[in-house]
Amino acid sequence: MLTVLLVLCGLGLAWLTGLELLVLGRFLVQRWQHYRQRLRPFRVAARRDFTPDLFELVLEPLPSFNLPAFIPGQFLTLAGPLLPSGKPAERRYSLAAWQPHPQRYVLCIKREPKGRVSRWLHTQALAGTTLQCRLPRGEFVVEQHHLQAPAIVLVGGGVGITPVKAMLEWLRHRHYRGQVYLYQSARGEGDLLYYDEFQRQAATWSHFQYRPFLSREQPLRGEQQGRLSAATLFSGGGTDAHYFFCAAQLMTDELVAGLQGCGVPASRLHFELFAASGSGCGPFDVTVDQHTLNAEGYPTLLHVLEAMNLPVESDCRAGTCGRCQVKLEAGQLRNVISPESPLPDATWLACCAVPESPVRISL
Ligand SMILES: Cc1cc2nc3c(=O)[nH]c(=O)nc-3n(C[C@H](O)[C@H](O)[C@H](O)COP(=O)(O)OP(=O)(O)OC[C@H]3O[C@@H](n4cnc5c(N)ncnc54)[C@H](O)[C@@H]3O)c2cc1C
Repeated sequence: MLTVLLVLCGLGLAWLTGLELLVLGRFLVQRWQHYRQRLRPFRVAARRDFTPDLFELVLEPLPSFNLPAFIPGQFLTLAGPLLPSGKPAERRYSLAAWQPHPQRYVLCIKREPKGRVSRWLHTQALAGTTLQCRLPRGEFVVEQHHLQAPAIVLVGGGVGITPVKAMLEWLRHRHYRGQVYLYQSARGEGDLLYYDEFQRQAATWSHFQYRPFLSREQPLRGEQQGRLSAATLFSGGGTDAHYFFCAAQLMTDELVAGLQGCGVPASRLHFELFAASGSGCGPFDVTVDQHTLNAEGYPTLLHVLEAMNLPVESDCRAGTCGRCQVKLEAGQLRNVISPESPLPDATWLACCAVPESPVRISL
């Protein structure tokens, strides 16, 4: 029976032209990727609360299967509470630990004061509960060819330490022969995630230097205080290092511009933003069809549209995936994040934009 089916398929394919085969091939690849990226159940095997707002989750698959390896820097997508559309709100969380053959995935999450998903996870994701996740993906990664550089400089701000911690673990596993610098910035000493672990690594790996920075409190354990500058990063890395940043947008913009000013080529500067930061929307009305909402206080136009319960799609929420495109019909918008790809006229990404006047939007 199978042989007959294969012969029939073969005969069918033989009739297809090259172009049709290409289209079919693309379609099958897309279906496969879609299937691979479906939501799957994971059990919270362990949970560690570092502070009232920062917590770590260790996730294992249900039922148990061999987890695919991932490239350090990649993220998981977690499903949170249901939206009015009946679909879950989804958010990305970088994998905070790297192993060659992972049995479990580790995430570290910051509960945001008004955040929809992070607050839900904080109360719901207790040890033993089940979460739905999509497998790892992402382009902010350290790879084999980066190992040619004489130095690798990692910068993690706040909970942005997660992807660079996985990168550090991979570099050590790969016996990287260059110099690795980790600059970790946090507000206070209690926010220096994985501090003891980094100190241990620095004490046992001669190629690694750990430099924590605190911006708020008096240093208690001799850490540096104040703002991390491009000059400090450049003094270790120079022009030939690869630099990886995961920090607040303002800090990243400043450091990237400073390093470019020192002559570091853009191809050596890699960064991930977790979300738009800044003062958020002003007191302007946003109108879509018959619905109007005052935007004051919402971080971006995307948050305003979500608060209006409109069916706006989103994935990365940081200007990369392009799923939250909207049309500006009237008024003015301003980007607080630069979208990664150019957009057609009057088209904006809601996750990147804030209103500068009353605006009328169409989805
Ligand atoms: C690639 C990638 C990796 C990431 N990795 C991590 C990670 O490892 N750890 C981590 O903690 N996060 C990570 N994030 C961020 C994460 O995906 C979420 O964006 C974050 O948890 C906030 O989601 P939320 O649903 O809780 O907040 P949202 O509801 O999306 O709100 C976002 C922000 O807006 C504020 N806000 C919302 N509504 C209002 C309002 N009405 N008024 C004022 N402020 C408001 C919230 O306080 C919050 O700060 C990552 C993001 C990306 C893109």
